[in-house]
Amino acid sequence: MIEVSSLSKSYGNHLAVDNVSFTINKGDVIGFLGPNGAGKSTIMNIMTGYLSLTHGSVKVDGYDIVDNPEQAKKRIGYLPEIPPVYIDMTVREYLYFMYDLKKVKFPKKPHINEIAKLVKLENVMDRLIKNLSKGYRQRVGIAQALIGNPDVLILDEPTVGLDPKQIIEIRNLIARLGKNHTVILSSHILSEVQEVCKRIIIINKGKIIADDTPDNLSQGLSTDHSLHLRVTGKEEDLKKILCSVPGVKSVVSLGSKEAGSCDFNVEPKTGHDIRAAVSQRLSERGKTILIMASNEMNLEQIFLRLTEMSDNGQEFFMAQNNGESEVSDKTQEEEEI
Ligand code: ADP
Ligand code: MG
Repeated sequence: MIEVSSLSKSYGNHLAVDNVSFTINKGDVIGFLGPNGAGKSTIMNIMTGYLSLTHGSVKVDGYDIVDNPEQAKKRIGYLPEIPPVYIDMTVREYLYFMYDLKKVKFPKKPHINEIAKLVKLENVMDRLIKNLSKGYRQRVGIAQALIGNPDVLILDEPTVGLDPKQIIEIRNLIARLGKNHTVILSSHILSEVQEVCKRIIIINKGKIIADDTPDNLSQGLSTDHSLHLRVTGKEEDLKKILCSVPGVKSVVSLGSKEAGSCDFNVEPKTGHDIRAAVSQRLSERGKTILIMASNEMNLEQIFLRLTEMSDNGQEFFMAQNNGESEVSDKTQEEEEI
């Protein structure tokens, strides 16, 4: 459906997108993730034909965005980072205006009504856009992208600036749209896309540093989760025992939450799965584990770790296979700050 090959973009002598390639299949729901300034909007603006590229190519359904912009653009609905809404128009006026601009062939009124229903704008169609909440305005922006029924929807930070309730609504809307469209959305917050996206492309400093399912991304780093432990015995004794287990990086006592026991947070060295060793050592010393739970690394932490690794010139897989390298340990320390 979309093929991006060796895409680069320079602003003057600043390389904002650096040799990026990926393919997006029909029906995919993809999240572009990266910190501010990573190059997400630049890539999206190029994919939608709003910005020229310096090198490489973008093809939409086989149509090159440079050689055949009309055909390529027809297949894409775009919600830019700053939605292009005219606040002095009513929602209906604006959507009719965009319909005319896009030279759509479907019958106007039913087409717009259908979109309004899908995005749940029906009850505000005759309100001025400037009087709408940010959440509703964002829906107007998404409605605008849906005009002409494009196969692909590209949404740049669709939930930025929204309150939690509005975020959930937009997220649900995106999930609904994902059933009938190929959706690409960007965010700088990983947790935000983990629910809706089947695949996450992580971008940092203009480069792709990971491209995988949310589950695989979490699993790739899952062996070095910190552990929450509750163990019978005295704090000082237990702490000594835990510190002696190979692969343990740090032990933090959390106090006693249950009589005769103590809770700890045990952090492994990068790449070490310490669960078996911890359990064995404690049982050798006659201690009983009441709770052992992985403090799941949330996607935010994974994202930070990946971007830091890429900043250090390390590949994603190296941290897993070569956990004791200096670079990986540094990453870990930086995370604690
Ligand atoms: P993101 O959307 O991930 O926050 P952008 O694509 O907006 O990132 O920006 C990528 C990089 O390109 C940043 O370093 C930004 O400062 C730079 N940049 C973006 N737009 C321009 C522009 N019009 N002129 C010069 N530099 C730009
Ligand atoms: Mg952006």
